[in-house]
Amino acid sequence: MNVFVARPHGYCSGVIRAISLAKEVRSRHRDCPVFVLGSIVHNEDVIQELEDLGITTVRDIQKRPAQLLEELPDRSVVIFTAHGHEVSLDEIAKRKEMIVYDATCPMVTTNHRIILNELKNGHQVIYIGKKNHPEANAAASLGDDVFLIEDEKDFLLLKIADKSPLVINQTTLSQIELANIHDLIMHKMPAARIADEICNATRMRQKAVLDLDVNTELVYIIGGDNSSNTASLAEMARKRLPHARVIRILNEREIDEKELEGINAVAVVSGASTPLETTNRVVLKLNLLK
Ligand code: SF4
Repeated sequence: MNVFVARPHGYCSGVIRAISLAKEVRSRHRDCPVFVLGSIVHNEDVIQELEDLGITTVRDIQKRPAQLLEELPDRSVVIFTAHGHEVSLDEIAKRKEMIVYDATCPMVTTNHRIILNELKNGHQVIYIGKKNHPEANAAASLGDDVFLIEDEKDFLLLKIADKSPLVINQTTLSQIELANIHDLIMHKMPAARIADEICNATRMRQKAVLDLDVNTELVYIIGGDNSSNTASLAEMARKRLPHARVIRILNEREIDEKELEGINAVAVVSGASTPLETTNRVVLKLNLLK
């Protein structure tokens, strides 16, 4: 069995920055609890590593981030995640006199700057992103004239006055999915202005999937099941290799030997928040099983 490892793998720069910041905050505030509001990145192994260092992830799918923040003690040390955060959280943190550290990825911050500039100039903004994803929620919170759509269906239901809105997107979407929505928007709204904001880390990993050998029979996509960039990689792999089996795993423990029966060519692809050590352990296990 041939085991091919797609590159790049290991953390993207935004994830490296967020994890380093969390560790730095932990050492700076040795004598008090440190909280991360939501998942610092969408990978449970990373979150566990931070928990082991005494950094508590605060999350509950039944509650909005604002509610979770309200429930923390006043003057807590809080880290906002790499995905960006909703505008209302700044006011809550200020009122509760919290010590805040912001791990927002610079690519996401750039996205926000572009959106705010459009709003300042009186434009409306169509934001393509995943509903309920923190990055999309953060962008949508920038103003009432930001309209979050997830797909073509949402766009067709959208009613906005601006004939020349800015069309921008979550940084981790699939290029194929995004191109389809852009085509529809430009067909219906020829004066719309497109800002393709898929980040480079996502783009390079997607390119690696598009370059996979056509004879690949099985693709393991390593990453958290709530990771948007990992979901995009899986979607692209399914489109690129319709005959192959595409399986999403968090780590080597989720590989089932039976999946490999009769397989001659397997590829390993990692998301931007997947630790390099995890990818190495997956490859090692596959090499032992071949
Ligand atoms: Fe930043 Fe892109 Fe990494 Fe997200 S995937 S943290 S936007 S570099």
